[in-house]
Amino acid sequence: MTTTQVVNPATEQVVTTLELVGADETDAAIERAQRAAVGWREVAPGDRARLLRRFAEAVDANLEQLAQLEVANAGHTIGNARWEAGNVRDVLHFAAGIPERLLGSQIPVAGGVDITFHEPLGVVGVIVPWNFPMPIAAWGFGPALAAGNTVVLKPAELTPLTAVRLGELALEAGLPDGVFQVLPGKGAVVGQRFVTHPAVRKVVFTGSTEVGKEIMAGCARQVKRVTLELGGKSANIVFADADLERAAATAPYGVFDNAGQDCCARSRILVQRSVFDRFLELLEPAVRGVRVGDPADEATEMGPLISASHRARVASFIEPSTKVAFTGSQPDGPGFWYPPTVVLPEAPSDRLLTEEVFGPVVAVVAFEDEADAIRIANDTEYGLSGSIWTNDVGRALRVSRGVEAGNLSVNSHSSVRYWTPFGGFKQSGLGRELGPDAALAFTETKNVFIAN
Ligand code: NAP
Ligand code: MG
Repeated sequence: MTTTQVVNPATEQVVTTLELVGADETDAAIERAQRAAVGWREVAPGDRARLLRRFAEAVDANLEQLAQLEVANAGHTIGNARWEAGNVRDVLHFAAGIPERLLGSQIPVAGGVDITFHEPLGVVGVIVPWNFPMPIAAWGFGPALAAGNTVVLKPAELTPLTAVRLGELALEAGLPDGVFQVLPGKGAVVGQRFVTHPAVRKVVFTGSTEVGKEIMAGCARQVKRVTLELGGKSANIVFADADLERAAATAPYGVFDNAGQDCCARSRILVQRSVFDRFLELLEPAVRGVRVGDPADEATEMGPLISASHRARVASFIEPSTKVAFTGSQPDGPGFWYPPTVVLPEAPSDRLLTEEVFGPVVAVVAFEDEADAIRIANDTEYGLSGSIWTNDVGRALRVSRGVEAGNLSVNSHSSVRYWTPFGGFKQSGLGRELGPDAALAFTETKNVFIAN
Protein backbone atom coordinates (compact mmCIF):
# COMPACT_ATOMS: atom_id res chain seq x y z
CA MET A 1 0.00 0.00 0.00
CA THR A 2 1.32 3.47 -0.89
CA THR A 3 1.42 6.14 1.75
CA THR A 4 1.79 9.89 1.64
CA GLN A 5 3.31 12.28 4.14
CA VAL A 6 1.12 15.23 4.99
CA VAL A 7 3.32 18.29 5.56
CA ASN A 8 2.52 21.53 7.42
CA PRO A 9 3.46 24.23 4.89
CA ALA A 10 4.14 26.82 7.62
CA THR A 11 6.70 24.65 9.44
CA GLU A 12 7.72 21.99 6.88
CA GLN A 13 7.06 19.40 9.64
CA VAL A 14 5.29 16.11 8.84
CA VAL A 15 1.79 16.23 10.34
CA THR A 16 0.91 12.60 9.71
CA THR A 17 1.33 9.74 7.27
CA LEU A 18 -1.73 8.56 5.40
CA GLU A 19 -2.47 5.42 3.38
CA LEU A 20 -3.47 6.11 -0.21
CA VAL A 21 -6.30 4.29 -1.91
CA GLY A 22 -5.35 2.31 -5.04
CA ALA A 23 -7.23 1.38 -8.20
CA ASP A 24 -8.87 -1.81 -6.87
CA GLU A 25 -10.07 -0.11 -3.71
CA THR A 26 -11.44 2.74 -5.83
CA ASP A 27 -13.42 0.28 -7.92
CA ALA A 28 -14.72 -1.41 -4.77
CA ALA A 29 -15.78 1.96 -3.34
CA ILE A 30 -17.54 2.96 -6.56
CA GLU A 31 -19.41 -0.34 -6.57
CA ARG A 32 -20.39 0.16 -2.90
CA ALA A 33 -21.66 3.62 -3.84
CA GLN A 34 -23.61 2.12 -6.73
CA ARG A 35 -25.34 -0.36 -4.40
CA ALA A 36 -26.00 2.33 -1.79
CA ALA A 37 -27.59 4.56 -4.45
CA VAL A 38 -30.53 2.16 -4.78
CA GLY A 39 -31.58 2.73 -1.17
CA TRP A 40 -30.54 6.36 -0.86
CA ARG A 41 -32.81 7.59 -3.64
CA GLU A 42 -35.73 5.86 -1.89
CA VAL A 43 -35.13 7.57 1.46
CA ALA A 44 -38.17 9.80 2.08
CA PRO A 45 -37.41 13.47 1.29
CA GLY A 46 -37.95 14.57 4.89
CA ASP A 47 -35.63 11.85 6.20
CA ARG A 48 -32.89 12.67 3.69
CA ALA A 49 -33.21 16.33 4.74
CA ARG A 50 -32.97 15.37 8.41
CA LEU A 51 -29.82 13.31 7.81
CA LEU A 52 -28.18 16.23 6.00
CA ARG A 53 -29.14 18.55 8.85
CA ARG A 54 -27.54 16.12 11.32
CA PHE A 55 -24.41 16.05 9.15
CA ALA A 56 -24.38 19.88 9.24
CA GLU A 57 -24.73 19.80 13.04
CA ALA A 58 -21.86 17.30 13.33
CA VAL A 59 -19.68 19.63 11.26
CA ASP A 60 -20.67 22.54 13.49
CA ALA A 61 -19.87 20.58 16.65
CA ASN A 62 -16.41 19.81 15.21
CA LEU A 63 -15.84 23.20 13.59
CA GLU A 64 -12.79 24.13 15.65
CA GLN A 65 -11.16 20.72 15.10
CA LEU A 66 -11.73 20.93 11.34
CA ALA A 67 -10.36 24.47 11.27
CA GLN A 68 -7.22 23.48 13.22
CA LEU A 69 -6.68 20.53 10.85
CA GLU A 70 -6.79 22.92 7.89
CA VAL A 71 -4.35 25.31 9.53
CA ALA A 72 -1.90 22.41 10.00
CA ASN A 73 -2.49 20.77 6.62
CA ALA A 74 -2.99 23.71 4.23
CA GLY A 75 -1.46 26.66 6.12
CA HIS A 76 -4.75 28.55 5.99
CA THR A 77 -5.12 31.36 8.50
CA ILE A 78 -7.23 30.28 11.44
CA GLY A 79 -9.82 32.95 10.59
CA ASN A 80 -10.20 31.63 7.05
CA ALA A 81 -10.20 28.00 8.20
CA ARG A 82 -13.08 28.66 10.62
CA TRP A 83 -15.01 30.36 7.82
CA GLU A 84 -14.36 27.36 5.55
CA ALA A 85 -15.59 24.79 8.10
CA GLY A 86 -18.61 27.03 8.72
CA ASN A 87 -19.21 27.15 4.98
CA VAL A 88 -19.41 23.33 4.89
CA ARG A 89 -22.00 23.46 7.68
CA ASP A 90 -24.00 26.14 5.85
CA VAL A 91 -23.84 24.36 2.48
CA LEU A 92 -25.17 21.23 4.21
CA HIS A 93 -28.02 23.16 5.87
CA PHE A 94 -28.83 24.73 2.49
CA ALA A 95 -28.70 21.27 0.87
CA ALA A 96 -31.01 19.95 3.59
CA GLY A 97 -33.67 22.29 2.19
CA ILE A 98 -33.49 20.62 -1.20
CA PRO A 99 -35.12 17.16 -0.88
CA GLU A 100 -38.63 18.45 -0.13
CA ARG A 101 -38.30 21.24 -2.72
CA LEU A 102 -37.00 19.34 -5.76
CA LEU A 103 -40.12 20.32 -7.69
CA GLY A 104 -41.05 19.07 -11.12
CA SER A 105 -43.60 20.64 -13.49
CA GLN A 106 -47.05 19.79 -14.69
CA ILE A 107 -47.25 20.87 -18.34
CA PRO A 108 -50.59 21.35 -20.12
CA VAL A 109 -51.11 18.74 -22.86
CA ALA A 110 -54.07 17.30 -24.76
CA GLY A 111 -55.32 13.80 -23.95
CA GLY A 112 -53.63 13.32 -20.63
CA VAL A 113 -51.24 14.65 -18.03
CA ASP A 114 -47.58 15.59 -18.50
CA ILE A 115 -45.23 15.77 -15.52
CA THR A 116 -41.48 16.09 -15.01
CA PHE A 117 -39.23 14.48 -12.39
CA HIS A 118 -35.69 15.41 -11.35
CA GLU A 119 -34.12 11.97 -11.07
CA PRO A 120 -30.78 11.43 -9.30
CA LEU A 121 -27.88 10.44 -11.56
CA GLY A 122 -26.50 7.63 -9.38
CA VAL A 123 -22.86 7.81 -8.29
CA VAL A 124 -21.17 11.24 -8.47
CA GLY A 125 -17.36 11.60 -8.33
CA VAL A 126 -16.00 14.80 -6.81
CA ILE A 127 -12.31 15.71 -7.41
CA VAL A 128 -11.04 18.45 -5.09
CA PRO A 129 -7.88 20.63 -5.29
CA TRP A 130 -5.66 21.65 -2.37
CA ASN A 131 -6.49 25.36 -2.29
CA PHE A 132 -9.89 25.18 -0.53
CA PRO A 133 -10.20 21.55 0.58
CA MET A 134 -13.37 21.94 2.65
CA PRO A 135 -15.67 24.36 0.78
CA ILE A 136 -14.96 22.95 -2.69
CA ALA A 137 -15.69 19.44 -1.45
CA ALA A 138 -18.99 20.51 0.13
CA TRP A 139 -20.19 22.48 -2.93
CA GLY A 140 -20.09 19.13 -4.74
CA PHE A 141 -21.22 16.59 -2.15
CA GLY A 142 -23.91 18.73 -0.43
CA PRO A 143 -26.31 19.22 -3.36
CA ALA A 144 -25.35 15.87 -4.93
CA LEU A 145 -26.41 13.96 -1.79
CA ALA A 146 -29.51 16.12 -1.39
CA ALA A 147 -30.67 15.26 -4.91
CA GLY A 148 -30.45 11.54 -4.09
CA ASN A 149 -27.02 10.65 -5.45
CA THR A 150 -24.23 8.83 -3.66
CA VAL A 151 -20.78 10.43 -3.68
CA VAL A 152 -17.17 9.29 -3.94
CA LEU A 153 -14.78 12.13 -3.18
CA LYS A 154 -11.06 12.42 -3.93
CA PRO A 155 -9.27 15.11 -1.95
CA ALA A 156 -5.96 16.53 -3.23
CA GLU A 157 -2.98 14.43 -2.18
CA LEU A 158 -1.49 17.43 -0.41
CA THR A 159 -4.59 18.20 1.67
CA PRO A 160 -6.63 15.09 2.54
CA LEU A 161 -7.13 15.53 6.30
CA THR A 162 -10.31 17.60 6.54
CA ALA A 163 -12.03 15.55 3.83
CA VAL A 164 -11.25 12.32 5.67
CA ARG A 165 -12.72 13.84 8.85
CA LEU A 166 -15.85 14.98 6.98
CA GLY A 167 -16.31 11.39 5.77
CA GLU A 168 -16.21 10.18 9.38
CA LEU A 169 -18.66 12.87 10.50
CA ALA A 170 -21.13 11.84 7.78
CA LEU A 171 -21.16 8.30 9.16
CA GLU A 172 -21.45 9.54 12.75
CA ALA A 173 -24.43 11.67 11.66
CA GLY A 174 -26.17 8.54 10.38
CA LEU A 175 -25.67 8.66 6.61
CA PRO A 176 -25.91 5.03 5.47
CA ASP A 177 -22.73 3.14 4.56
CA GLY A 178 -21.56 3.80 1.01
CA VAL A 179 -23.54 7.02 0.56
CA PHE A 180 -20.54 9.34 1.05
CA GLN A 181 -17.01 7.91 0.78
CA VAL A 182 -13.73 9.82 0.89
CA LEU A 183 -10.87 8.23 -1.05
CA PRO A 184 -7.48 9.86 -0.54
CA GLY A 185 -5.25 8.90 -3.44
CA LYS A 186 -3.52 10.02 -6.56
CA GLY A 187 -5.28 12.01 -9.25
CA ALA A 188 -3.93 9.73 -11.95
CA VAL A 189 -5.31 6.67 -10.09
CA VAL A 190 -8.43 7.51 -8.07
CA GLY A 191 -9.44 10.61 -10.03
CA GLN A 192 -8.92 8.86 -13.36
CA ARG A 193 -11.08 5.94 -12.22
CA PHE A 194 -13.97 8.38 -11.58
CA VAL A 195 -13.62 9.39 -15.22
CA THR A 196 -13.35 5.88 -16.67
CA HIS A 197 -15.61 3.79 -14.40
CA PRO A 198 -19.02 3.55 -16.08
CA ALA A 199 -20.93 3.50 -12.77
CA VAL A 200 -19.80 7.06 -12.01
CA ARG A 201 -22.38 9.14 -13.86
CA LYS A 202 -20.98 12.59 -13.24
CA VAL A 203 -17.61 14.12 -12.37
CA VAL A 204 -17.30 17.42 -10.56
CA PHE A 205 -13.74 18.68 -10.98
CA THR A 206 -12.05 21.76 -9.54
CA GLY A 207 -8.41 22.42 -10.32
CA SER A 208 -6.12 23.38 -13.15
CA THR A 209 -7.47 24.13 -16.62
CA GLU A 210 -4.95 21.67 -18.03
CA VAL A 211 -6.24 18.67 -16.03
CA GLY A 212 -9.83 19.90 -16.42
CA LYS A 213 -9.58 19.60 -20.20
CA GLU A 214 -8.33 16.00 -19.83
CA ILE A 215 -11.22 15.19 -17.50
CA MET A 216 -13.70 16.64 -19.98
CA ALA A 217 -12.15 14.68 -22.86
CA GLY A 218 -12.22 11.48 -20.79
CA CYS A 219 -15.85 12.01 -19.77
CA ALA A 220 -16.79 12.51 -23.43
CA ARG A 221 -16.13 8.81 -24.11
CA GLN A 222 -19.13 7.89 -21.96
CA VAL A 223 -21.03 11.16 -22.45
CA LYS A 224 -20.51 11.47 -18.72
CA ARG A 225 -21.84 14.65 -17.11
CA VAL A 226 -19.16 17.03 -15.95
CA THR A 227 -18.91 20.28 -14.01
CA LEU A 228 -15.57 22.10 -14.21
CA GLU A 229 -14.30 24.89 -11.98
CA LEU A 230 -10.90 25.87 -13.38
CA GLY A 231 -8.43 28.73 -13.27
CA GLY A 232 -8.83 32.48 -13.41
CA LYS A 233 -7.04 35.73 -14.22
CA SER A 234 -9.63 38.07 -12.83
CA ALA A 235 -9.61 41.84 -13.16
CA ASN A 236 -10.14 44.38 -10.39
CA ILE A 237 -11.18 47.49 -12.37
CA VAL A 238 -10.74 50.82 -10.60
CA PHE A 239 -12.32 53.89 -12.22
CA ALA A 240 -11.19 57.44 -11.45
CA ASP A 241 -14.59 58.24 -9.91
CA ALA A 242 -14.31 55.43 -7.31
CA ASP A 243 -13.57 55.75 -3.61
CA LEU A 244 -9.83 55.32 -4.29
CA GLU A 245 -8.86 55.01 -0.64
CA ARG A 246 -11.23 52.08 -0.15
CA ALA A 247 -10.36 50.49 -3.49
CA ALA A 248 -6.63 50.59 -2.63
CA ALA A 249 -7.09 49.46 0.97
CA THR A 250 -9.10 46.40 -0.08
CA ALA A 251 -7.25 45.44 -3.27
CA PRO A 252 -4.58 43.35 -1.44
CA TYR A 253 -7.31 41.22 0.17
CA GLY A 254 -8.94 40.68 -3.24
CA VAL A 255 -5.80 38.92 -4.44
CA PHE A 256 -3.59 37.91 -1.50
CA ASP A 257 -6.24 36.08 0.50
CA ASN A 258 -5.18 32.42 0.89
CA ALA A 259 -1.75 33.60 -0.36
CA GLY A 260 -3.28 34.16 -3.81
CA GLN A 261 -4.09 30.45 -4.15
CA ASP A 262 -7.65 31.26 -5.09
CA CYS A 263 -9.22 30.79 -8.50
CA CYS A 264 -11.14 34.06 -7.87
CA ALA A 265 -8.00 36.08 -7.04
CA ARG A 266 -8.16 39.54 -8.64
CA SER A 267 -4.63 39.14 -9.96
CA ARG A 268 -4.86 42.00 -12.47
CA ILE A 269 -5.64 45.48 -11.17
CA LEU A 270 -6.79 47.77 -13.99
CA VAL A 271 -6.60 51.44 -12.98
CA GLN A 272 -7.83 54.44 -14.97
CA ARG A 273 -4.77 56.34 -16.17
CA SER A 274 -5.73 59.69 -14.59
CA VAL A 275 -5.51 58.15 -11.07
CA PHE A 276 -2.87 55.47 -11.74
CA ASP A 277 -0.02 57.09 -9.78
CA ARG A 278 -2.28 58.11 -6.90
CA PHE A 279 -3.67 54.56 -6.69
CA LEU A 280 -0.17 53.03 -6.52
CA GLU A 281 0.74 55.48 -3.73
CA LEU A 282 -2.29 54.31 -1.77
CA LEU A 283 -1.73 50.63 -2.60
CA GLU A 284 1.84 50.50 -1.30
CA PRO A 285 1.10 50.92 2.44
CA ALA A 286 -1.88 48.57 2.09
CA VAL A 287 0.34 45.84 0.64
CA ARG A 288 3.12 46.42 3.16
CA GLY A 289 0.48 46.24 5.90
CA VAL A 290 -0.71 42.71 5.05
CA ARG A 291 0.21 40.59 8.06
CA VAL A 292 2.06 37.53 6.74
CA GLY A 293 3.05 34.83 9.20
CA ASP A 294 2.01 31.97 11.49
CA PRO A 295 -1.43 30.96 10.22
CA ALA A 296 -2.47 29.80 13.71
CA ASP A 297 -2.09 33.38 15.00
CA GLU A 298 -5.48 35.09 15.07
CA ALA A 299 -4.00 38.35 13.73
CA THR A 300 -2.40 36.78 10.65
CA GLU A 301 -3.88 37.73 7.28
CA MET A 302 -1.75 35.61 4.93
CA GLY A 303 -0.05 32.26 5.42
CA PRO A 304 2.46 30.26 3.36
CA LEU A 305 2.10 28.66 -0.06
CA ILE A 306 1.10 25.01 -0.13
CA SER A 307 4.44 23.38 -1.03
CA ALA A 308 8.07 23.96 -1.96
CA SER A 309 7.43 23.08 -5.60
CA HIS A 310 4.47 25.44 -5.79
CA ARG A 311 6.59 28.23 -4.32
CA ALA A 312 9.24 27.57 -6.97
CA ARG A 313 6.54 27.79 -9.64
CA VAL A 314 5.25 31.11 -8.27
CA ALA A 315 8.78 32.51 -8.01
CA SER A 316 9.50 31.53 -11.64
CA PHE A 317 7.03 34.21 -12.80
CA ILE A 318 9.32 36.98 -11.52
CA GLU A 319 12.14 37.30 -14.04
CA PRO A 320 15.17 39.60 -13.84
CA SER A 321 13.42 41.94 -16.31
CA THR A 322 10.16 42.05 -14.31
CA LYS A 323 9.35 45.53 -13.01
CA VAL A 324 8.48 44.98 -9.34
CA ALA A 325 6.77 48.06 -7.84
CA PHE A 326 6.98 46.93 -4.21
CA THR A 327 6.57 43.86 -2.02
CA GLY A 328 5.15 43.09 1.41
CA SER A 329 6.75 41.05 4.15
CA GLN A 330 7.44 37.37 4.82
CA PRO A 331 8.72 35.62 7.93
CA ASP A 332 12.18 34.06 8.19
CA GLY A 333 12.79 30.39 8.96
CA PRO A 334 11.05 27.26 7.72
CA GLY A 335 7.82 27.37 5.72
CA PHE A 336 6.95 27.90 2.06
CA TRP A 337 6.71 31.70 2.29
CA TYR A 338 6.37 34.19 -0.52
CA PRO A 339 5.79 37.91 0.03
CA PRO A 340 2.88 39.87 -1.45
CA THR A 341 4.31 41.22 -4.69
CA VAL A 342 3.09 44.02 -6.99
CA VAL A 343 4.39 44.06 -10.56
CA LEU A 344 4.00 46.51 -13.45
CA PRO A 345 4.10 44.55 -16.72
CA GLU A 346 4.25 46.61 -19.91
CA ALA A 347 3.43 44.20 -22.75
CA PRO A 348 -0.12 42.79 -22.85
CA SER A 349 1.43 39.40 -23.69
CA ASP A 350 3.47 39.33 -20.44
CA ARG A 351 2.89 35.98 -18.64
CA LEU A 352 2.01 37.97 -15.52
CA LEU A 353 -1.05 39.28 -17.39
CA THR A 354 -2.07 36.08 -19.17
CA GLU A 355 -1.23 33.11 -16.90
CA GLU A 356 -2.64 32.14 -13.53
CA VAL A 357 0.18 32.55 -10.99
CA PHE A 358 -1.85 31.09 -8.08
CA GLY A 359 0.31 32.96 -5.60
CA PRO A 360 0.54 36.43 -4.01
CA VAL A 361 1.52 38.29 -7.17
CA VAL A 362 -0.62 41.04 -8.67
CA ALA A 363 -0.09 42.98 -11.91
CA VAL A 364 -1.23 46.61 -12.14
CA VAL A 365 -1.95 48.16 -15.55
CA ALA A 366 -3.49 51.43 -16.75
CA PHE A 367 -6.57 51.88 -18.95
CA GLU A 368 -8.02 54.92 -20.72
CA ASP A 369 -11.81 54.69 -20.59
CA GLU A 370 -14.72 52.32 -19.98
CA ALA A 371 -14.41 50.54 -23.33
CA ASP A 372 -10.66 50.08 -22.83
CA ALA A 373 -11.23 48.66 -19.34
CA ILE A 374 -13.71 46.07 -20.65
CA ARG A 375 -11.40 45.18 -23.54
CA ILE A 376 -8.41 44.57 -21.25
CA ALA A 377 -10.51 42.70 -18.67
CA ASN A 378 -11.73 40.35 -21.42
CA ASP A 379 -8.31 39.92 -23.01
CA THR A 380 -7.81 36.51 -21.34
CA GLU A 381 -8.90 32.94 -21.94
CA TYR A 382 -10.32 32.90 -18.41
CA GLY A 383 -13.57 34.37 -17.07
CA LEU A 384 -14.20 33.49 -13.46
CA SER A 385 -14.63 36.60 -11.33
CA GLY A 386 -13.75 40.26 -11.04
CA SER A 387 -14.45 43.55 -9.28
CA ILE A 388 -15.56 46.98 -10.48
CA TRP A 389 -14.91 50.09 -8.41
CA THR A 390 -16.96 53.15 -9.40
CA ASN A 391 -19.51 55.47 -7.85
CA ASP A 392 -21.47 55.73 -11.11
CA VAL A 393 -24.28 53.18 -10.96
CA GLY A 394 -24.84 53.21 -14.72
CA ARG A 395 -21.17 52.50 -15.34
CA ALA A 396 -21.22 49.73 -12.72
CA LEU A 397 -24.07 48.05 -14.61
CA ARG A 398 -22.59 48.56 -18.09
CA VAL A 399 -19.20 47.20 -17.09
CA SER A 400 -20.77 44.30 -15.17
CA ARG A 401 -22.64 43.32 -18.32
CA GLY A 402 -19.55 43.81 -20.49
CA VAL A 403 -17.04 41.74 -18.53
CA GLU A 404 -17.08 38.07 -19.56
CA ALA A 405 -16.95 36.43 -16.13
CA GLY A 406 -19.30 34.41 -13.96
CA ASN A 407 -18.93 36.20 -10.61
CA LEU A 408 -18.56 39.96 -10.35
CA SER A 409 -18.68 42.33 -7.42
CA VAL A 410 -19.12 46.10 -7.47
CA ASN A 411 -17.26 48.10 -4.78
CA SER A 412 -16.44 44.80 -3.07
CA HIS A 413 -14.39 41.67 -3.67
CA SER A 414 -16.80 39.00 -2.50
CA SER A 415 -17.76 36.34 -5.03
CA VAL A 416 -18.92 33.36 -3.03
CA ARG A 417 -22.21 32.86 -1.23
CA TYR A 418 -23.68 29.37 -1.00
CA TRP A 419 -27.10 30.59 -2.09
CA THR A 420 -25.88 32.39 -5.24
CA PRO A 421 -24.55 30.67 -8.39
CA PHE A 422 -20.80 30.25 -8.85
CA GLY A 423 -18.82 29.30 -11.95
CA GLY A 424 -16.80 30.47 -14.91
CA PHE A 425 -17.12 31.77 -18.46
CA LYS A 426 -14.73 30.64 -21.22
CA GLN A 427 -11.88 28.40 -20.02
CA SER A 428 -12.62 29.06 -16.34
CA GLY A 429 -15.14 26.27 -16.32
CA LEU A 430 -18.35 24.64 -17.34
CA GLY A 431 -21.60 24.65 -15.40
CA ARG A 432 -22.46 26.30 -12.11
CA GLU A 433 -22.29 25.28 -8.48
CA LEU A 434 -24.22 26.54 -5.46
CA GLY A 435 -27.20 28.89 -5.74
CA PRO A 436 -30.90 28.13 -6.18
CA ASP A 437 -30.27 25.59 -8.97
CA ALA A 438 -27.42 23.70 -7.25
CA ALA A 439 -29.33 20.39 -7.14
CA LEU A 440 -30.35 20.48 -10.80
CA ALA A 441 -26.72 19.92 -11.79
CA PHE A 442 -27.03 16.51 -10.09
CA THR A 443 -30.26 15.33 -11.71
CA GLU A 444 -31.69 14.30 -15.06
CA THR A 445 -35.05 15.77 -16.01
CA LYS A 446 -37.50 13.04 -16.92
CA ASN A 447 -40.72 13.82 -18.76
CA VAL A 448 -43.70 11.48 -18.33
CA PHE A 449 -46.94 11.66 -20.35
CA ILE A 450 -49.91 9.77 -18.93
CA ALA A 451 -52.82 9.26 -21.32
CA ASN A 452 -56.36 9.82 -20.01
P1 NAP B 1 -4.52 19.75 -10.52
O1 NAP B 1 -3.45 18.86 -10.99
O2 NAP B 1 -5.53 20.23 -11.48
O3 NAP B 1 -5.24 18.97 -9.30
C1 NAP B 1 -6.57 19.13 -8.89
C2 NAP B 1 -7.15 17.78 -8.47
O4 NAP B 1 -7.20 16.90 -9.60
C3 NAP B 1 -6.31 17.05 -7.43
O5 NAP B 1 -7.18 16.32 -6.58
C4 NAP B 1 -5.50 16.12 -8.30
O6 NAP B 1 -4.99 15.00 -7.61
C5 NAP B 1 -6.50 15.71 -9.34
N1 NAP B 1 -5.90 15.20 -10.58
C6 NAP B 1 -4.66 15.47 -11.09
N2 NAP B 1 -4.48 14.82 -12.23
C7 NAP B 1 -5.61 14.11 -12.48
C8 NAP B 1 -6.02 13.22 -13.50
N3 NAP B 1 -5.24 12.95 -14.54
N4 NAP B 1 -7.24 12.67 -13.44
C9 NAP B 1 -8.06 12.95 -12.40
N5 NAP B 1 -7.72 13.77 -11.39
C10 NAP B 1 -6.52 14.34 -11.42
O7 NAP B 1 -3.92 21.01 -9.81
P2 NAP B 1 -2.47 21.13 -9.10
O8 NAP B 1 -1.45 20.33 -9.83
O9 NAP B 1 -2.68 20.83 -7.70
O10 NAP B 1 -2.19 22.67 -9.30
C11 NAP B 1 -1.62 23.17 -10.50
C12 NAP B 1 -2.17 24.54 -10.85
O11 NAP B 1 -3.56 24.45 -11.09
C13 NAP B 1 -2.05 25.59 -9.77
O12 NAP B 1 -0.81 26.16 -9.70
C14 NAP B 1 -3.15 26.54 -10.20
O13 NAP B 1 -2.73 27.41 -11.21
C15 NAP B 1 -4.21 25.63 -10.72
N6 NAP B 1 -5.23 25.31 -9.69
C16 NAP B 1 -6.44 25.92 -9.78
C17 NAP B 1 -7.41 25.67 -8.82
C18 NAP B 1 -8.74 26.30 -8.86
O14 NAP B 1 -9.40 26.38 -7.83
N7 NAP B 1 -9.21 26.74 -9.99
C19 NAP B 1 -7.15 24.79 -7.77
C20 NAP B 1 -5.91 24.16 -7.74
C21 NAP B 1 -4.98 24.44 -8.70
P3 NAP B 1 -3.53 15.07 -6.93
O15 NAP B 1 -3.66 15.89 -5.74
O16 NAP B 1 -3.21 13.67 -6.62
O17 NAP B 1 -2.61 15.66 -7.97
MG1 MG C 1 -1.34 18.58 -10.91
